[in-house]
Amino acid sequence: MARDERSVTPQSEDFSAWYNEVVFRAELVDRGPVRGSMVIRPYGYRIWELLQAHLDSRIKATGHQNAYFPLLIPQSYMEREAEHVEGFAPELFTVTHAGGKELEEPLVIRPTSETIIGEMMAKWISSHRDLPMLLNQWGNVLRWEMRPRMFLRTSEFLWQEGHTAHATAADATAETMLALAFYQDVATEIAAMATVPGEKTPRERFAGAERTFTIEGMMRDGRALQSGTSHFMGTNFAAAFGITYTGEAGAAELCHTTSWGMSTRMVGGVIMTHGDDKGLVLPPALAPYQVVIVPIGRAEQADTTSSAATRLAATLRGAGIRTHVDDRPQLSPGFKFNDWEMRGVPIRLELGPRDLAAGTALMSRRLSYPQPDSGKVAVPLDGAPDLLTAELSAFQTMLARRAADFRDDHTAIVNSWPEFVAAVAVGWALALHCGDEACEDEIKAETTATPRCIPLGGEPEHGPCVRCGKPSDYGKRVIFARAY
Ligand SMILES: [Zn+2]
Repeated sequence: MARDERSVTPQSEDFSAWYNEVVFRAELVDRGPVRGSMVIRPYGYRIWELLQAHLDSRIKATGHQNAYFPLLIPQSYMEREAEHVEGFAPELFTVTHAGGKELEEPLVIRPTSETIIGEMMAKWISSHRDLPMLLNQWGNVLRWEMRPRMFLRTSEFLWQEGHTAHATAADATAETMLALAFYQDVATEIAAMATVPGEKTPRERFAGAERTFTIEGMMRDGRALQSGTSHFMGTNFAAAFGITYTGEAGAAELCHTTSWGMSTRMVGGVIMTHGDDKGLVLPPALAPYQVVIVPIGRAEQADTTSSAATRLAATLRGAGIRTHVDDRPQLSPGFKFNDWEMRGVPIRLELGPRDLAAGTALMSRRLSYPQPDSGKVAVPLDGAPDLLTAELSAFQTMLARRAADFRDDHTAIVNSWPEFVAAVAVGWALALHCGDEACEDEIKAETTATPRCIPLGGEPEHGPCVRCGKPSDYGKRVIFARAY
């Protein structure tokens, strides 16, 4: 079928093709020269920066301090925690040569930093007065990726990793839950995503962790995206790296540690939670431009509307609204409208000679929910800052509600295998499960669905496994879904 060259594959036809077209067309990314690598372009990087700023302020407000640790880690460090090395071995990049010579000990490029931070914590912590130690690092990590997808799976990605050490298991558990709570806040309040916080089943735990918690978001194709994880390590890393403190009684005690991370994967989550067949839809809190003004008019009129647009933009920026004027003279207004729709800008203002004479601009919202779009609205230029601030806030709320409604409409409580199969074909299934790995494998082989999490808010419940009929194991229902 012939298609307008500016349009993208509809989501309903091929969600994956839609995603791949949108990330390039909206100029978020480009392919790097090395397989699995990603160039983040300015428009995409700005989304990440905005997310990062919100997350960083929550991290700091809860007493954590940022630090930076080296990218290169001695290979021997990785080998000290048995499960950790086994879990990460298939993904490691190893440096064997430097300065033209073979290294005596190979170095790994960090896939995560528990080992090097553990080594330093062992040096810095000696007494209970040094605890808790609350560190966070912003940086990049590398993990070899066989099936790369922009933002979702790339060999190199950006993230933050929190690493903390505590005197007691209770303190470390509280920290694990604290980090999960600010991920949930950022995902729902800033990214307007529909995420569910929960605990991973044993097999899905982080390599070396005793407990792993996650927030799982529902994407518009019904799949789940793991959007942030928080791990309680118990004393596993403390024992491997000698992170000890002298307790009040004078004896050496092992610390309890945690780690937690959120990455550029979240940008993919935003795209797949809100996007539609016209392209991206960005929540105002993460939109590089919240408002784009398109001046309209030919010849001498163009100068008038352009300068009026520039003045309006300055006023809006003064009110804290990220505003851009699209005065590219060679492009038609229609092209510009499509372009900013593709790039997900929440609000567009058109400013033509007639609007100007009337003291107004014509406002279009990128999306409307639950009612369909009521069309363009004339906005008085005088009251524009207040009015648009309110519009942006309403847009943010509307997107969060749309995402939550979509998640709820695509989540089914299931009690039989046919119900399960039908549910995971279009969304999430809440099911009782026996916890056996062989049973999980069968479910995955037949449906490609995996256990995503045991939701924190779930009610206690027992009964037969949805697949094999054996007694359920977790005391609650588990979310099963196809996942990214
Ligand atoms: Zn079973």
